[in-house]
Parts: sequence; structure tokens; C-alpha cells
Amino acid sequence: MPRYIVVAGGVMSGVGKGVTTASIGKILQEYGYKVSSVKIDPYLNFDAGTLRPTEHGEVWVTDDGGEIDQDLGTYERFLNIDIPRRNNLTTGQVYKAVIDRERQGEYLGQTVQFIPHIIDEIKDRIKKASNSYDFIIVEVGGTIGDYENIPFLFALKSLERDIGKQNVSYFLVTYLPIPSHIEEMKTKPTQQAIRLLSEHGIFPDFIICRAKRALDTPRKKKIETYANIASENVISEPDIETVYQIPLDLEKEKLGEKILKEFGMKAKKSPDWSEWKKLVDNILKPKKTVKVAIVGKYIDIGDYALADSYLSINQSLLHAGASLNAGVEIDWLDSKKFEDSKKSLNELKDYDGIIVPGGFGSSGVEGKILAANFARANKIPYLGLCYGLQLAVVEFARNACGLKDANTTEINPKTSSPVIDVQPAQKEILEKSMYGGTMRLGQYAAVLKDKSQVLKLYEETGRLKEDEKRINELVKDKSQAFRLGILEKGRKIALERHRHRYEVNPKFVDLLEKNGMVFSGYYERFDRTRLMEYVELPNHPFFIGTQAHPEFKSRLGNPSPLFYGFVKACGK
Ligand code: GLN
Repeated sequence: MPRYIVVAGGVMSGVGKGVTTASIGKILQEYGYKVSSVKIDPYLNFDAGTLRPTEHGEVWVTDDGGEIDQDLGTYERFLNIDIPRRNNLTTGQVYKAVIDRERQGEYLGQTVQFIPHIIDEIKDRIKKASNSYDFIIVEVGGTIGDYENIPFLFALKSLERDIGKQNVSYFLVTYLPIPSHIEEMKTKPTQQAIRLLSEHGIFPDFIICRAKRALDTPRKKKIETYANIASENVISEPDIETVYQIPLDLEKEKLGEKILKEFGMKAKKSPDWSEWKKLVDNILKPKKTVKVAIVGKYIDIGDYALADSYLSINQSLLHAGASLNAGVEIDWLDSKKFEDSKKSLNELKDYDGIIVPGGFGSSGVEGKILAANFARANKIPYLGLCYGLQLAVVEFARNACGLKDANTTEINPKTSSPVIDVQPAQKEILEKSMYGGTMRLGQYAAVLKDKSQVLKLYEETGRLKEDEKRINELVKDKSQAFRLGILEKGRKIALERHRHRYEVNPKFVDLLEKNGMVFSGYYERFDRTRLMEYVELPNHPFFIGTQAHPEFKSRLGNPSPLFYGFVKACGK
């Protein structure tokens, strides 16, 4: 039976509960255990698909097409596992499932109530996500004291009653402020968080104390007395330079051994942190540094611009850099600037590489197209992600194929050269304004072209082999294999995640190819329709675009092939 570790946050949000959850998982993996995580988001939205990324950070996409809060991404990046959508629970999903069942008459005359129906639904979902794992780490979103997470705490307590306290451990992640006018670390908010948690019958077994500085002994003692736990289970987690240091720091406090002791378990293997340490060292002290411009659309909220809306891209560059022992300095450039003054494009000369990330709508689009053109003309490494591929194709059609009016129909529905267009099935959805969960979402297979740069990168990084293993699992379910586009054996296939509506228009592929653009991978639908997945330009040091979002499959120690190739090219 799986053991459960519940992670709740006290004091305030944004102190690194997700990273702590992921780090606990990473530690237990190092001790030889199979670990996965569940994220609870107490909002009423069904999923994160329609949330504003500037408020909640980027939307994370799972293999099976879930649009989820980015914490699931943090888990995948640390644990190097693929986590399915069912590992994310929202209040909206829970209530919807119960009400749908009631409408279908499944409760036969019963009064449907918070207890037991909602609680059972929550427990059921957590249990379903736990199959075949030794440990499941459940992160409760929000902060203790929020009205919204009460049902979930209640359900977890009930789960504890079902399976016994010996199989559940509670972590409280708190924050200890150091007000500048007194320069003293304060434990009071943590004490209050402990009390609030106890109102739910939950007494933490571990308290992780986030703060600017490490916790000193008097304060550790204070918390220990207040929470009535052993001081060795009050763990200090001060600010650090890179989040990937956290498992190492927590291990300095022997967290792994302490957790296993709590469950009465022993290590299955002795942890070997050498590889992880080397990667962290590379992040902290890289041998060289490359400079990358990400040309996108940026929205400020008040005085803060939220770089979190491109978090996965940041992380992917970091992972690629760590594997290549290169630091990546990132500048975020607003593409609108290039529209206002073409001269300002020359700024791009200062960069070793240019990325045009995913995006929607017309804001700053012409600036992004200008940036793609600049990268192509000046032989600066270019990586186009989703919209970044589409706009690179528009640029190429206009300036290398003479289709002056070329565009994506997302921007100009009346263009005479719709090189990027919507698939017929998506047209209907757009007409009906059905926006929730209706894009081309999740993992799809791309058949890679022999001798292409893209294929070489998937081979060089070992990803092709890894995907081969995934495919061998996936084809066991024929309908799944069909959906993904795994139609024949023996093809060289890459699996990446998607989130978009528009595609390269098949009608223009020949013309684009004649003028030198290489389509180095395609998705083949069961009706044999081909959708282009990768483009590249020979005679350019590195010019690659992908219709997918490879940033969702980048992990520390297992970087995304395209990011790896891009950072390598930037270093040359
Ligand atoms: N707006 C484009 C589309 O829907 C690109 C989406 C993206 O970059 N994720 O196809």
C-alpha cells in the first residue's frame, strides 16, 4: 500500500511549497522508492486552461492533455517522471463529478451531501492517483486557514482514519519573516499556522521553515515546544540560489532518514547525489555563459512583470545549460519595441540566440516575425516554440517565397496566403466559442526525418530511445496509439506535448520546401493527414521551430533535445 505525505502551507503562499514537495519526492527516490505527487487546487475552475497566466503562472500541459497548475511541472522536473492529469484535483472537478453522477441517477434517492459524497470523491481520486507507488506526496494548494481547502483537509484526515496514521505523515511549510525594522526572525506566524492546522485535527510531523536565513537554535526550540514535535523534525530551509539545491540542503538535515524512520521503513538503496550535485554546481558556477533573448509579449501587473508565465522555458534553458556546463543569461524583450523601431532590432546582435515562445493573438506579432527574420538573416541561433514556429514560417513565406501577404489566419483571416491555418475540426469549435480544453492538447507522436538536425538531437540526448520505451507501453492500447499518431512500427518517433489550434497549412508545404525550408517531422493522423511538427533551415547554424512545447518535457539531468541543441549552438 502506498504511504502518503501531506504537504500544507502556513502563513502565506509563494514560499516554495511546490519545490519542497518535489524535493521530498526526489529524496525518497534517491532512497530507492517509487514516488509520485498529487496537487490539490481548491479553486472552482475545472482546470487551469482558462486561467490568466499572468496571475497564476504558465499553464502546464500533461501527456494526456490536462491543463494544470504549474506545480505539476515542478514535480516532473525534479522527479523525471510523467505525471497524468488525474494527479491534479480541483474543487470544480470534485463537485462536477458528484453532481454529474447525481443527474445520472446514481445515488438512488439519497440526499447528496458534503459528507460523505464530496469527501469520498476526493479520497477516491487521491487513491486512484496512488496505484503502484510507494509514496504519494499530496500538496494542498493555498494556505492553511483558507475556507477553500477545508474539504480537502477533512478528506485527508478521513483517509488517515481509513489507512492508519502509520501510513500518513504531515508536513507544514511555513515562512519566518525578518521585519527590517527589528532584524529579528519571528516565529509567531508559524505558531498561528500550527494552531490553524490543529483545528482540523492535524498535527504536523515535520515543519519546514522557509526564511531568508537559516533557523537558529532558540527559534527551533520555540517552534518545537509550540508544535509539540521533536526539534529534529523542525527543518530549516533558507533562501538559496537555485531550487535544485533544496533536496541537497534538506538532506544535510537528514530528512530522508527521518521520513523513513517516521514510517518505520528502511532505505532500499543508499542515495547517490553525485550526478545531481554536479548539475547544481554547473548551475552555480558554469564554465561559460551564453546570452539568450526571449522575444515575446509581456504584461505587467502593477509594478511587477510576471516571468512565471514562461517558467518552463526558463527551466529548460537552465537544464540544457546544466548538462552543457553553461550558464544561460536570459533577457525578456517586448516584441512591440521592434514594431515601433526597426533600428532597435540591432540589439539582437548582442545575443547568442533568440527564442520566440508560444503565444496567442495579434499583440506584438509583427515584432516577433521581424525577430525571426533577423535571426535567419544574421545566422543567429533561433528556436521557435509553437507560435515561434508558426511565425517563422510566416516570415519565410513572405521573405523567401515571395508571398508578401502571407500570414496566420489567427491574425489575418483574409490573407491570400494562409500559410498557418486552423484545422477544419477546430473551426467549428471557434465558431461556437468553446474555448475550455478544446485545443490540440497533450502528447502527440512526430515521425522524424532521416538525417535531419532534429533527429540528430533526439538521438544525441538519448530521448529517441526513451520515447521508444514510452511508445512500447502506449501501443498496448490501440485507440491511444491511433490518437497519438503511432501508426506503423519501426519509425523514428518523438513524443512532445501540444497546446495550440493552428497548423502549418499543408497546401503550402511544397512551396516552402522548394525554397529551402525543411520539414523535419510530422504527425500523421489515422486518416493519413499529415501535420507539420518541426521545421529547420540547413545552411544556418541553428534554426529550428517546433509546433510542440518541448519545454514541458525538460528535466534536470534529462534536458529537452531542442533546448540542448540550441544552447550548444549559442555557445559556439
Ligand atoms: N496561437 C497559436 C495557436 O493556437 C500558437 C499557440 C501556442 O503558441 N501555444 O495555434
